Amino acid sequence: MKYVLVTGGVVSGLGKGVTASSVGVLLNACGLRVTSIKIDPYLNTDAGTMSPFEHGEVFVLDDGGEVDLDLGNYERFLDIKLTRDNNITTGKIYQSVIDKERRGDYLGKTVQVVPHITDAIQDWIERVAAIPVDGKEGPADVCVIELGGTIGDIESMPFIEALGQFSYRVGSGNFCLIHVSLVPVLNVVGEQKTKPTQHSVKGLRSLGLMPNILACRSTAELEENVKRKLCQFCHVPEENILTLYDVSNIWHVPLLLKDQKAHEAISKVLNLGITSEPHLSEWTSRAELCDMLQESVRIAMVGKYTGLSDSYLSVLKALLHGSVACGRKLCVDWVPSSDLEDATATENPDAYRKAWSLLKGADGVLVPGGFGDRGVQGKILAAKYARENKVPYFGICLGMQIAVIEFSRSIIGWKDANSTEFEPNTKNPCVIFMPEGSKTQMGGTMRLGSRRTYFHVADCKSAKLYGNKSFIDERHRHRYEVNPDMVEKLEEAGLSFTGKDESGRRMEIVELLGHPFFIGVQFHPEFKSRPGKPSPLFLGFIAAACGQLDAVLRKGVGKAANGIGNGTNKSSSSSRHYGNGNKATRPLVDIIYSNGNGVHY
Ligand code: GLN
Repeated sequence: MKYVLVTGGVVSGLGKGVTASSVGVLLNACGLRVTSIKIDPYLNTDAGTMSPFEHGEVFVLDDGGEVDLDLGNYERFLDIKLTRDNNITTGKIYQSVIDKERRGDYLGKTVQVVPHITDAIQDWIERVAAIPVDGKEGPADVCVIELGGTIGDIESMPFIEALGQFSYRVGSGNFCLIHVSLVPVLNVVGEQKTKPTQHSVKGLRSLGLMPNILACRSTAELEENVKRKLCQFCHVPEENILTLYDVSNIWHVPLLLKDQKAHEAISKVLNLGITSEPHLSEWTSRAELCDMLQESVRIAMVGKYTGLSDSYLSVLKALLHGSVACGRKLCVDWVPSSDLEDATATENPDAYRKAWSLLKGADGVLVPGGFGDRGVQGKILAAKYARENKVPYFGICLGMQIAVIEFSRSIIGWKDANSTEFEPNTKNPCVIFMPEGSKTQMGGTMRLGSRRTYFHVADCKSAKLYGNKSFIDERHRHRYEVNPDMVEKLEEAGLSFTGKDESGRRMEIVELLGHPFFIGVQFHPEFKSRPGKPSPLFLGFIAAACGQLDAVLRKGVGKAANGIGNGTNKSSSSSRHYGNGNKATRPLVDIIYSNGNGVHY
């Protein structure tokens, strides 16, 4: 096993995750099998109890692991399926060491950070790196390890020490360190500054880690003299200094690495013997297509909007995959659900008007997953609006429960219909607490991970979008579910539960059959969407929003008009629009910008 460690310096949020995943893509494109490990030095056992509005989305894996959103990047970029153990946290390591101590495994010794914690980290890495994640047998060739945080953080010290020891354990030729750093330009002087990188490399060295490759984030390409200076002061060969300047979309990043021959640099350090050029034609055409899209599809995202788009990262990515497949530029209007509520009309009329005008201007309405009762009434109003006006509606997890509540209230006439999550004493509990959940223990107690859904209705959009399979496996993360005792009544009134679990008692997919597109799912299809393989339901939703659903259903998923999948897009590799071209560029970390009228992706 060969290891590529990616660390970060100077500031956080440099796009270390995207860089590390892109390195994986590049090696994969050279014919190597790649796995990855993300180290998060925080004390939480996993990301399950962390607020998505502070830390970004909680990504869910097949095995039910609730992990850092960077694992989503790896899964999407490398088209792999990771396990919960691929995300290492301080909490997990300490828990395993303390469990061992309680069992008496340390035979009376004093248990210490060095060597016990550092050994546990190394053993964990070696064990997890060997787990196959690409559907093939046997371990991968290369494991990309991303160390979260910034060099110098107190929390990451045991990991740095462990990784330093690990580089000796696996031996030279098996360990390559890529340090992602920042080269800022000071406006006054207009000069690219190397000092922050020099300092962070110095910090790294003082902790016993020697960088082999520097990946410098900057707004524009690094000037030659700047590279020379970095080479001199950081003791890294000039050809191993990569410049990751801002690009128009993140799919360009693997191409940027390829153009600078990062694969050759890594191959040299790790003796990989890479001789051929990486095959990245699909990435090239997708990145170029994404730059060329003109016509927009407007999606209203109705949720607890706090300005941190990372809170819904996978949903955004899945929407983007669907939009690119439909040849449309994705434009997301963030609609804070509480602004749609009647109370806002008097308290903040401007916000109320804006929220409703965004909702009414949208081609499709999406209500994503969520917890807690804030803004629930606004989400119900959004579902009602979409149902009554035949606007495509896609409800995910909470968004499905909202659709059921809205239908119960408006069509059946159960005025107080609600989820017991929001109103425990409702007379019409159409969404109820699941027996296997827990209300006292929050971490890891939901219905989590991959579960099977069987289609119960053949002639429905969801079944067709999934290619008329009899069942599908999608990932879950919920505590509440549609009340099975009310299903008959709801179905009689016209709501179809087209997908259910193996018991037939748990509702997985709900559809309004007479509507152009009104689908709610208890699972989270966004987690399995991939750039070249959009999630069928996201593709269907976007296609419905831009009038292409019939075409998609006729041609089959993955063959939407203008899409990557139908081979109509011939790429011209001579004209890539990253860097300083006239296209608007955006930071590598995929931060989005708003034109005041929706956010373009
Ligand atoms: N709060 C709801 C539940 O626990 C929905 C969860 C979600 O949207 N992920 O069932």
